[in-house]
Amino acid sequence: MGKALIIGCGGVASVAIHKCCQNSEVFEEICIASRTKSKCDALKNELEGKTKTKISTAQVDANSVEQLVNLINDFKPDVVLNLALPYQDLTIMDACLATKTHYIDTANYEPEDTAKFEYKWQWAYREKFKEAGITALLGSGFDPGVTGVFSAYALKHEFDEINYIDILDCNGGDHGYPFATNFNPEINIREVSAKGSYWEDGHWVETEPMEIKREYNFDGVGMKDMYLLHHEEIESLALNIPGIKRIRFFMTFGQSYLTHLKCLENVGMTSIEPIMYEGKEIVPLQFLKAVLPDPASLGPRTVGKTNIGCIFQGKKDGKDKTYYLYNICDHQECYKEVGSQAISYTTGVPAMIGAMLVMNGTWQKPGVYNIEEFDPDPFMDALNKWGLPWIESHNPVLVD
Ligand code: NDP
Repeated sequence: MGKALIIGCGGVASVAIHKCCQNSEVFEEICIASRTKSKCDALKNELEGKTKTKISTAQVDANSVEQLVNLINDFKPDVVLNLALPYQDLTIMDACLATKTHYIDTANYEPEDTAKFEYKWQWAYREKFKEAGITALLGSGFDPGVTGVFSAYALKHEFDEINYIDILDCNGGDHGYPFATNFNPEINIREVSAKGSYWEDGHWVETEPMEIKREYNFDGVGMKDMYLLHHEEIESLALNIPGIKRIRFFMTFGQSYLTHLKCLENVGMTSIEPIMYEGKEIVPLQFLKAVLPDPASLGPRTVGKTNIGCIFQGKKDGKDKTYYLYNICDHQECYKEVGSQAISYTTGVPAMIGAMLVMNGTWQKPGVYNIEEFDPDPFMDALNKWGLPWIESHNPVLVD
C-alpha cells in the first residue's frame, strides 16, 4: 500500500513500529527517524527478517523544519507519523505542509517553556492544510485517541445526545520501583503536577492539582483511587460532541507515587525554570528525568493490567441512558508481544491504526482534525484486530 515516515524512536514509537511491521500489507516501507539514530538502527536490526516491511533509518532533529523537509523529500512517504515529543508538533506540521504530506500525532503541541498544552496552535493550521489538500489527524493515541473514537462511536450508535463523559484511565500495573513514570517522565510530571480542570456548562472549571479524588472498581484491576486531571481531549470533545454538559478526566495514582511526587515538587525538582548548577544552566525536571528509570526499561518488570475507557450518560429515544466502553490491557502480554509495557502499547497501537486509515484513504479529508471528527467504525474494528479489543457495558457504575 504505501510508505510511512515515523519520527521518534522511544516507548510509543517502538510499539507503533512493531505493529506497522505486523501490518506489512499496508506499511510496505517505513523509515524510522529520530534524534539518536543508534536506537532506530537497533530496532531495525531486531525487526528485520521477521517482517515483509522494508525498514530504513535516519538521523533527524525534528526541531529543524529544513532537516525534516530534506528527509521527507528523500524518502517520499505517504504519511508522517509524529511520535517524538509534543514540542516538535509544529515543526513537523510545517514540514508536512512544505512537502504536501499527511500528518498524524498522539499529543498536542506544548511550548517547551510553559507547561501548557492546548490545541490552538495546531488548529491554527486548518486553512493551510485544507489549501494544501492534506490531512492532519491529531491525537491518535489512547487518551487522546481511542477515548475520542469511543465518544464518536457512542454518539453514532448508542445515543441521540451525550450529556456527560467521564474518561477513566486506570493503570493497575506494578513495576516494583518506589517511583518511576510509565512514559516520558518530563511530559508525565508536567501533566500531573499541573492544575486540574474539567468542562462544565460551556466553560472550564479549574481545580488544584489532585484536589478531586474518587474511588472506582475497575474491571480486571479492582478498586483504585483516581484523581481529576486536565487532559487534552476534553478541549476538542467539548466542541465536537453536541449537547455535552460536562467532561471529566480521572487517572489512578498509588499513594507511593503521590508521596514521591509531592516531595520532589516541594524540593523544586519538578520545576521547568532553568537554574544555574556549577556554571551550567540546567532544568530541574530534565535532570530528574535523567536519574529516573527509563520508561522503556519498565517493560520486563511491570505486571498487572490497565483499564482505560469512557462512561457516557445521555439520551436515546427520549429516555436517559448510560454506556461504558473500555479496554483492558495486560502489561506482561504486551511485553511478550512487542517488548514494551501496556502504557506504550495502548498508545502505539492506535498510532499505527490512525496512520493506516489515513494512508489507505479511509480517513482522508483536507484540513486539521481531531480523531472524533472521523467515522469511528473502521477504527473500532481495527482496535479489535490489532490488540486492543473493547468491552461495552450498558449498566456501568457511575462516578459521582
Ligand atoms: P519517549 O521519550 O520514550 O520518546 C520520544 C522520542 O522522540 C525519543 O526517541 C526521542 O529521541 C525523540 N525525540 C525527542 N526530541 C527529538 C527531536 N528534536 N528530534 C527527533 N527526535 C526527537 O516518549 P514516548 O514514546 O513515551 O512518547 C512519545 C509521544 O507520545 C509523546 O508526544 C507523548 O506525549 C505521547 N503519548 C501519548 C499518549 C496518548 O495516549 N495519546 C500516551 C503516552 C504518550 P532520543 O531517543 O534521542 O531521546
